[in-house]
Amino acid sequence: MADAPTLPQQLKQYLDALRAAGVEYVAKAGPAPSRKSAPIVVASAVIPAVDPLAERRTNLKLLADGIQNCARCLELFSTRTQTISGVGPISAEVAFLGDGPDSVDDRAGEPFRGDAGTWLAPALVALGLERKQVYLLNATRCRAPGKRFPTAKECANCRDYLVRELELARPKVICCLGTLTAQTLLQTTESIAALRGKVFDHTGIPVICTFHPAYLLKNPKSAADAASDLEFLKRILGT
Ligand code: SF4
Repeated sequence: MADAPTLPQQLKQYLDALRAAGVEYVAKAGPAPSRKSAPIVVASAVIPAVDPLAERRTNLKLLADGIQNCARCLELFSTRTQTISGVGPISAEVAFLGDGPDSVDDRAGEPFRGDAGTWLAPALVALGLERKQVYLLNATRCRAPGKRFPTAKECANCRDYLVRELELARPKVICCLGTLTAQTLLQTTESIAALRGKVFDHTGIPVICTFHPAYLLKNPKSAADAASDLEFLKRILGT
């Protein structure tokens, strides 16, 4: 009859069995690990610590992917090239919220590439920000055909995607561009004239409202008011 294994042999057998089960790391006895950086040890196996930013980015991608076949607005579904979700960093300084992608955005696959992008460039200069520092998204994720604006119904159809996207991107401030956009997010019937110059709240995120870029193109006399809205935004951002 073979001799009983020694303690070191028993330990080696135990470790070999763990390795065969896929366990690559066993925590060393000692002080409790820091909650921020150390891996979480459960029953001797290692589960990597969750990176909340990476998790939010993954969930934003899953949200965008899940919308790709959305057909809630039949006309938009049948005429769009693709759905256009937001772009930009998590927890950006500010999110600019337009009403919907235009034909340039529809082809490019990204918001604020067409007319809204023309408005955005000087606005960013005034704010001292770069495009890569802001989050850009729309109330609707599909282009409305024939250069028309999205309807209130189409914005309402898309609102739960918008709310979820803002929840995941969680910008420090939201700036709504135009009446329809502001009404969709804030669930109000007030006009942009009544909404400008005030700070509203969306799930704890400050919201301000300014003119739609297309309105400013047709009404250059409102440029001074639009500039004062950007100054208001700068004060809220503390820049
Ligand atoms: S606008 Fe929004 S709700 Fe309407 S079809 Fe596109 S993704 Fe769906």
